[in-house]
Amino acid sequence: MAQNEDNLKEIISHAKEYGFVFPSSEIYDGLSATYDYGQLGSELKNNIKSYWWKSMVQMHENIVGIDAAIFMHPSVWKASGHVDAFNDPLIDNKDSKKRYRADVLIEEHIEKIRAKINKEVTKGLKRFGDDFNKEEFLKTNPNVLRNQAKIDDIENRMRETLGKEDLEGVYNLIVDLGIACPISGSKNWTEVRQFNLMFSTELGSVSGESAKIYLRPETAQGIFVNFLNVQKSGRMKIPFGIAQIGKAFRNEIVARQFIFRMREFEQMEMQFFVRPGEEMKWYEYWKDQRIQWHNRIGLGEENYRFHDHIKLAHYANAAADIEFNFPMGFKELEGIHSRTDFDLKQHQEFSGKKLQYFDPEINENYVPYVVETSIGLDRMFLAVLSSSFKKEQLENGSERAVLSLPPALAPYKVAIMPLTRKDGMPEKARAILSSLQADFNCQYDEKDSPGKRYRRQDAIGTPYCVMVDHQTLEDDTVTIRDRDTMLQERVAITDLSKIIEDKVSMSKLLK
Ligand code: ATP
Repeated sequence: MAQNEDNLKEIISHAKEYGFVFPSSEIYDGLSATYDYGQLGSELKNNIKSYWWKSMVQMHENIVGIDAAIFMHPSVWKASGHVDAFNDPLIDNKDSKKRYRADVLIEEHIEKIRAKINKEVTKGLKRFGDDFNKEEFLKTNPNVLRNQAKIDDIENRMRETLGKEDLEGVYNLIVDLGIACPISGSKNWTEVRQFNLMFSTELGSVSGESAKIYLRPETAQGIFVNFLNVQKSGRMKIPFGIAQIGKAFRNEIVARQFIFRMREFEQMEMQFFVRPGEEMKWYEYWKDQRIQWHNRIGLGEENYRFHDHIKLAHYANAAADIEFNFPMGFKELEGIHSRTDFDLKQHQEFSGKKLQYFDPEINENYVPYVVETSIGLDRMFLAVLSSSFKKEQLENGSERAVLSLPPALAPYKVAIMPLTRKDGMPEKARAILSSLQADFNCQYDEKDSPGKRYRRQDAIGTPYCVMVDHQTLEDDTVTIRDRDTMLQERVAITDLSKIIEDKVSMSKLLK
């Protein structure tokens, strides 16, 4: 734990030092859990967005994208259930005065028991070596069975109490499990209360209930209210999807862990409209598609896992998270939800407007069912950044910090450098820069020794460095250095564009 937290601290300071992420309003000592993306952070963020957008919109004939307003008619949030039910159960520790999400405290307790099971498995593996049969072990080992029974029991009680909004039951569960505050170590808890996560503000110059509007807590509703606009104007046939990237706002009870949980964040959501009764097929389809999207960028398949929801949101009949192995452990990165016809039906009722589709294949009118994929852009950013950040010991005894970013996502694709500032080398290097600039985001760097310049590019994840040297002036060749292998190769200037394109192209990821 401590080591992972140190690791996160290092990533945060690296992100600041190199212009990826700054604390917001830093000159005023910052604003809690609010961050600004710097010059390199916004490039990386744009590249992640582009990978998502292209894989959804460009690669699917039947998915289109929109950009809806953050402000919406207040009735939207009545209809969607957010005014009444977008709550988190909170609990305070009376000694430390710290506030927690009650469900998170219980889930963390479950994780501790799960860790005990994993420990047994590791012990078993050590004892039996190659003969170890994990499945059999999980089914028969008494310690594992006892702990698994504990987990099942807690999960059942959690499902029951949260499902019925039985807050006293949630409190009793925390007390029965003997959960203590991680800060004070005490079990002196307040009762559990519900807390609505929506931010509200007032529209125009009048104040009062009538002018109260909300900052959207999810981008999805902008898609639902435009369902018919898009379907009709785009002549879309079911099944089809609408994608959107945009800001969302939630007044989180505990916002921490860098950009993992913020009160202002960005979502990339796609709502897929399907024929009623076919939603489970599409739910499985999108689970599969989304994990493939993740696996293709190469952060390591072992860093992902699925987690089925115990507590289903008020709109869902099935839901799973894709969890990522962040520095703080496995946590939710993306949600895939089967939202039924809940949202469209509610909007139909509250607006009095029909939100139906005539399906010519079966000659029927219906309110479509929806399968949603929803990923936090900032969490994806943290996943990419944290899994790419490495400190490496080099043969000469020195250390380098390197961001082994997927090349298609790297802020700069290539850095162009003259060996010295003499003999026309800068001019030659600048000529190469202008020949590549329109296709790739390039950086020009002539300051400091080559070694220092290479280190700087490693630290920001630039896949290639091109060096103009004396030989360049004679035969129009340069050296090109690979960030990961640190090997240099001499190539003709005329081949540069193709070599770089091969490495950094996003199209390979999309196919
Ligand atoms: P959590 O359980 O972590 O609060 P959630 O289940 O409420 O998340 P969803 O409503 O499913 O989240 O939102 C979809 C995605 O939006 C999440 O998978 C996550 O990546 C992102 N997201 C949600 N809340 C935040 C936040 N406060 N900061 C950053 N990203 C967030």
